[in-house]
Amino acid sequence: MRYGIFADIHANEPALDAVLAALEAEKVDRLLCLGDLVGYGADARRCVEKVRALDIPVIAGNHDWAVAGRLGLEYFNPHARAAVIWTRGELDDEAVRWLASLEPIDTVGDLTLAHGTVHEPELFEYMTTGYDAYRSFAAMKTDVGFVGHSHVPVAFFFDGTAVTYSVEADLTRGDRRVIANPGSVGQPRDEDPRASYLVYDDEDGRLLQRRVEYDIEEAARRILDAGLPPILAERLHVGR
Ligand code: ZN
Repeated sequence: MRYGIFADIHANEPALDAVLAALEAEKVDRLLCLGDLVGYGADARRCVEKVRALDIPVIAGNHDWAVAGRLGLEYFNPHARAAVIWTRGELDDEAVRWLASLEPIDTVGDLTLAHGTVHEPELFEYMTTGYDAYRSFAAMKTDVGFVGHSHVPVAFFFDGTAVTYSVEADLTRGDRRVIANPGSVGQPRDEDPRASYLVYDDEDGRLLQRRVEYDIEEAARRILDAGLPPILAERLHVGR
């Protein structure tokens, strides 16, 4: 089975549309969403509607939980906080209830999905070091997992002895355990502004990090028109 995995949409509808079109063209068998549908961008309502309509496994990101009142605003920097408050005003009660119903970790068949880490999913920490990954491998019951949150595409491997990582776009798991991050659909932070997603084939073990162009000007214009902090529009152009 080929999985199309995406995360951190952040209310960027042009980027979400580009990724969903690319995944359709890839003919993946199943889609998985790792959370943070909202926050930062101006298309909160439509991004929630579109992801809900896919009827796929979705987990909660920290922005989703903040908008839903399950996470305090003290965890957010001022720009992110402004976006959470703005997003609350955009969504209807039904959409907020749905976001509140999401959990930050889930198991789908042989795959673990988490937003931040597998070992402390409700704390929404970043998996950035080998040690973070090691703790998640220790807690994870499956051999393959996916996380989001850092907005940087990367794969951590564990061969039973040591954790290694790679940012290469075409990787094969072999008999190693893996936790991979598909990067961000709507706010990439690895200095490549293109929308990011991941294709995983559980038969040959290949992990393909993909990028797709989208209309950044349009997404940025919507952020400015909505009165959100201009930095949230500017950063889309540089992918940081
Ligand atoms: Zn995020």
